[in-house]
Order: sequence, then C-alpha cells, then structure tokens
Amino acid sequence: MSAQVDTACFNLDQHPCYSIGGSHQYARIHLPIAPRCNIQCNYCNRKYDCVNESRPGVTSRVLSPVQALAYLEEMMEKIPSIRVVGIAGPGDPFANPYETMETLRLVRNRYPDMMLCLASNGLHIGPHIDELVELQVSHVTITMNAVDPAVGGLVYAWARDEGKILKNADAAATLIERQLDAVKRLAAAGILVKVNSIVVPGVNDRHIPEIAKVVKGLGATVMNCIPLCPVQDTPYENLYEPDGIMMARVRLQCCEHVSQMSHCARCRADAVGLLGEDQSVEFAGTLESFTE
Ligand code: SF4
Ligand code: SF4
Repeated sequence: MSAQVDTACFNLDQHPCYSIGGSHQYARIHLPIAPRCNIQCNYCNRKYDCVNESRPGVTSRVLSPVQALAYLEEMMEKIPSIRVVGIAGPGDPFANPYETMETLRLVRNRYPDMMLCLASNGLHIGPHIDELVELQVSHVTITMNAVDPAVGGLVYAWARDEGKILKNADAAATLIERQLDAVKRLAAAGILVKVNSIVVPGVNDRHIPEIAKVVKGLGATVMNCIPLCPVQDTPYENLYEPDGIMMARVRLQCCEHVSQMSHCARCRADAVGLLGEDQSVEFAGTLESFTE
C-alpha cells in the first residue's frame, strides 16, 4: 500500500473549520506566503488589500517561508490555542510551490504535532501530493465551482498551465480534470478533503449539487458552499450575493450527497485566532514586523 496520512495522530476535533465545538476553543493561523495565482476566477480581485476587509485573497503582508516560521513562533506565544497552521494564499499555494512546500517543511520540523491544512484550486497540486503525505498534511481544501467545463467556463477567465494560457471552457476542462484527480488521490492517501464551492447566482447555483455528487464518489469528506461576495472591478461585481433562501436550497440539495459545513468565516489569507473572532487586524503589526 502507498504512504498514508495517519489522522489518528491528530486531535481532529480541534480543527475549528471541521468541528463547530472546536471552533469556540481552538484557533487557526493562515501563513500568507503564496502571492501568485495560476488561474483567474471571475469573482477574485487580489489588488484590494485592506486590513479591515475579511475575505479570501486578502492579506496585509506576504512572508517568506523563514519569516513565516518566525511569525508563527511569536503567534504561538500570543495565542497558545493555535492547533492548525494553514496556507490559503493570498494566491494559490501551488502557483508558489517552493514557498509552500518549504513553509510546510519548516513548520512540521518545528511543531511535529501541529495539524497542517491547505486550500488550493487544485490545478498544480498533483506533483506535490506524495510529499504532502510525507509531511502528514491532514486537511486539504480544493475549491471547485463546476464539474462541467461549460459551467466552469463562465467562472474562470483563464488558467496558466505548462507555459500556456487557456481560456474559459478550455481552462475549466483542464482545471476540473486536475481537481477530480487531486480529490481522489488525496482522499485515498487518508487526507481529509473538503471541497469549497462558490455559489454564483444564475451561473452555478443549480449545478453545485452535481459537484457534491461527484466529489463524494471520489472520497471527499465535507463540502463548504460559500455565497459569492461580489468584489469591485471583477466581472461579477454587479451580481448579487445569494440570499439565505438560495444558500439553504443549495446546501439541502448537496447534503443528499456529502455533509455540509455552514460555519465558514470566509477567512483572509492572513487570518489568525478563533474562527468567529478573527484577530488578524489586532495582530497586523506583528505580521508586518516580520517583513523587511
Ligand atoms: Fe483568486 Fe483563489 Fe481564484 Fe486564484 S484561485 S483567482 S487566488 S480565488
Ligand atoms: Fe476554515 Fe473557511 Fe476560514 Fe478556511 S476560510 S480557515 S475553511 S473557516
């Protein structure tokens, strides 16, 4: 049998994103070491970088792997309840593979019992899965907004792969193929796989249950349907944020296939603290002090 992640070594109830009980007691920290991205989602604009803004893709600073470890050491002193170290951008971890893998190595070496967590679009995670298993990364999130390239083509403007730029449905076809392969391989290696899907009204809200069905068949543990947050200067800036009724309908249809997470806080790439009480603004000065 190929190598496996031994999740029994970790207290999984202490991962705040996977355990509502744990979310009130245990903290997580995102290390913002991955600035570049290899795709362009039509809802994402990483130019806006406001310390008061809480959404993925936002950070007040980007750190090198060595700076990230030093920052983590200081934050562990300030917030001893940190149980999870995650990498969630502000771009994609595997558009920055050196920084991502080096940071994970440094953190694993320094904190052998720490839960390690990653969030990726899945395009370029494949070549790194064996080492993620070696490093005992226990939780991986893949963001999937479609399993049909025709729908995905409406969500993705482009993807950069092997030096080529693919557009819309071509980008989506390649991305979806890699995502499905990644979910299957990660789950087979014992990693807990969460699939995030951004609910875009009129674009993929009716399609998302199909994603739930497909990823459950590949071994995903949980799904997190996240309402679109329309951001200025993106193709979706004039769409509306899905209301509670649409979100309830989507989650109800999806939970027929895979269990649903509903307490996601849409965290920043430099989020730190308890899930509902993000302290990234409070500790922005600490983060800044670790950059040149
Ligand atoms: Fe933005 Fe993430 Fe999409 Fe990249 S994968 S464009 S960082 S939302
Ligand atoms: Fe957890 Fe959601 Fe925050 Fe990621 S964005 S750390 S899944 S709550």
